[in-house]
Amino acid sequence: MKVLVVGGGGREHAICWKLKQSPSVHELYCAPGNGGIASIAQCVPIAATDVEAMVAWAREHAMDFVVVAPDDPLALGMVDALEAAGIPAFGPRKNAAVIEASKIFSKNLMAKYHIPTAKYQAFTGLDAALAYVEAEGAPIVVKADGLALGKGVIVAQTVDEARAAVRAMMSDGKFGAAGARLVIEECMTGPEVTVLAFCDGAHLLCMPSSQDHKRAFDGNQGPNTGGMGAISPSPNYTQAVAQRCMDEIFLPTVAALQAEGRPFQGVLYFGLMLTPSGPKVVEYNARFGDPECQAVLSLLESDLLEIFQACRTGTLDKVDIRWKSGAACCLVLASGGYPAAYQKGYPISGLEQAGRSAVVFHAGTRLSGDGTVLTNGGRVLGVTATGLDLEAAIQAAYAAAKEISFTDMQFRTDIGRV
Ligand code: ATP
Repeated sequence: MKVLVVGGGGREHAICWKLKQSPSVHELYCAPGNGGIASIAQCVPIAATDVEAMVAWAREHAMDFVVVAPDDPLALGMVDALEAAGIPAFGPRKNAAVIEASKIFSKNLMAKYHIPTAKYQAFTGLDAALAYVEAEGAPIVVKADGLALGKGVIVAQTVDEARAAVRAMMSDGKFGAAGARLVIEECMTGPEVTVLAFCDGAHLLCMPSSQDHKRAFDGNQGPNTGGMGAISPSPNYTQAVAQRCMDEIFLPTVAALQAEGRPFQGVLYFGLMLTPSGPKVVEYNARFGDPECQAVLSLLESDLLEIFQACRTGTLDKVDIRWKSGAACCLVLASGGYPAAYQKGYPISGLEQAGRSAVVFHAGTRLSGDGTVLTNGGRVLGVTATGLDLEAAIQAAYAAAKEISFTDMQFRTDIGRV
């Protein structure tokens, strides 16, 4: 089969790496791809958000299957457009991807179907939002309704901070249309866990749990980032917690979307907080998380293409998915300064040596004319290793990362340990 993966980050590299192992994938393409993806797939210079150009290219080149990995094209309806053109595609349709694209939609869905989450209210007007903050007090969480690259959430420790966040989103237009409507919610406490699940509209199959590390610096300090590392499984996700999440959150969510006429086919991301009163939903995403994807897929033994196809055809209950025992760790190597301003274009050395004991997924890289791999983004690489247990996986990822260097390389030294 000819398969196209849409996207160009570490997540898409991991998806391509896994699809490449499928005996059914004869030709693999990635749009736009990156410097690492280029070594296993043919990169196509089309932006992930350019729905029209993507559909036209897929049709012209007779793709048999397209995997839409990032949130933006899903929210734009790329899967609907591909299917309308007769091209089978993996990912939720626009009316289901809204579970990520609108926090008001997802909070209202949870309220309607009694799925545990933080108490909240939605706002479209500044004065009512400010009055709510005043009445509830701090700490309190202010969230832009729409997609804001993970930066539209402020966990405010004081009322002043919350007021400033509301004003920045609503009157200063800090997140454009995404911030014109807000959710303000109760601040929860407890460890965070991610559970990714394959869904076919009616059934769901959970992958091993995982844990992201969002803050830039050790000890969970500093600004939020796209994710500085991930481990799988999460030590906090016990069998008992898993059963409770399945009964109270996962199955009710899939059933709710189905009941609303928005069956979810794709990867559903459950961002959970294990609060003193039980697991609650922090957020849903409509796709694999990055870098959780890199850690979780490195544990997958089964054929990813078969799973993707079963999600689309509603036959996930017939698929037997096998996972490696043990654990995985993905350590992100970032450009100095990230998530604020950083330089690009530095040569990267040691990739081959690191690749002997780990899989190095590329995120922000590109190839120079002479084939040198150069830094080309904030998060540059995700060094991913597996081991018999979490400690072994963490040590293997750090040992492999030691081989790699580029100017101003920045990474956390405590992935999997906080
Ligand atoms: P992304 O898509 O990048 O994961 P997002 O912008 O959709 O992020 P959320 O995941 O909703 O945002 O929130 C980001 C982080 O803020 C969470 O991982 C969590 O640490 C914190 N957070 C969000 N909501 C709450 C809450 N109600 N109580 C406490 N912390 C929260």
